[in-house]
Amino acid sequence: MSALRQILLERIALEGPLSVADYMGCCLMHPEHGVYTARDPLGAAGDFTTAPEISQMFGELVGLALAHAWMDQGRPAAFTLAELGPGRGTLMVDILRAGRRVPGFCEAAKVVLVETSPLLRARQREALAGQGALWVETVEALPQAPLWLVANEFFDALPVRQFQRAGEGWCELRIGMQAGALVRGLAGAAPVPALAHRLADTRDGDIVEIAPALPGIAGAIGQRIEAHGGAALLVDYGDWRSLGDTLQALRRHEPVDPLTSPGEADLTAHVDFEAIAAAVPCAHSRLTPQGVFLERLGITARAQQLAQGLSGAELENHIAAHRRLTHPKEMGTLFKVLGLMPRNAPPIPGLDT
Ligand code: SAH
Repeated sequence: MSALRQILLERIALEGPLSVADYMGCCLMHPEHGVYTARDPLGAAGDFTTAPEISQMFGELVGLALAHAWMDQGRPAAFTLAELGPGRGTLMVDILRAGRRVPGFCEAAKVVLVETSPLLRARQREALAGQGALWVETVEALPQAPLWLVANEFFDALPVRQFQRAGEGWCELRIGMQAGALVRGLAGAAPVPALAHRLADTRDGDIVEIAPALPGIAGAIGQRIEAHGGAALLVDYGDWRSLGDTLQALRRHEPVDPLTSPGEADLTAHVDFEAIAAAVPCAHSRLTPQGVFLERLGITARAQQLAQGLSGAELENHIAAHRRLTHPKEMGTLFKVLGLMPRNAPPIPGLDT
């Protein structure tokens, strides 16, 4: 039996059934056995891969969109260039390489990375050696300064609680144990004030999710952007409003039951972008499909340019990466981008307004 399963069973024996959020948080961030703390779960040898790991084009275009917004807001002379959950640091490396083409952008930027996993921080430190980057644990630690920020597949790692509609109340889905195995259960119905707005659009038996940490994180980002200027690009899979059980586990790139391999499978849930928009005191774009966003920023021209130096298997991989990032049947519509900007600022390039 895995060490983490044993720890979870002991905790349930002591405290009773866990919320899905407690389970998810423990699986991802347990100090010794968590998915993000015990090993590097990204890439071909890990559990999942992400847009910046698929192609450098993703980070380059994100970097140019951020630099464009920086120019549109009068090129502030000193700003924070932040990333939430930077994984291996690949996205920030690509952002900085593209950003160097925009005079003054990198010189004005102070790179700050928000990362809780010591193991991934070490990977990021290697990737970003010599860039003068700083690491912080939480968004509250970001300076009160103009903020240009990116988060790719960060919000989907925030633990969610799940509730099933029962009349005018909600039953929380919990994780308990039976005969030494982790099992799902339902707590008794109770009113949930945070879900009052969902009584109008759900029916008995529907499941909805809430990420308790999300409003605080989004609010801290939005406050800095509104007060000091800036822009955020939040990229994730999800929708405007969450509906249904979207908890999913990937182990070595294969879907598995979220309860069967705690600590050995990445756990994510779809992001409820409406909850982000509701928590920020600044303006936001419309939710834009990733494929549309990248096409508008010129991914096809960039792909053709990079293709000129490639042949054989490298060229085929490059063409496949372009398709994977943009095609509606791949990541193009499943992944979406929400932009945040000050109320009086021009829109961010690539996004629906
Ligand atoms: N953005 C990267 C990695 C995504 S994986 C990419 O696109 O490749 C999720 C990342 O978020 C990991 O770096 C993980 O350690 C980090 N993370 C998850 N929850 C976090 C939290 N609450 N605070 C800070 N970092 C977190």
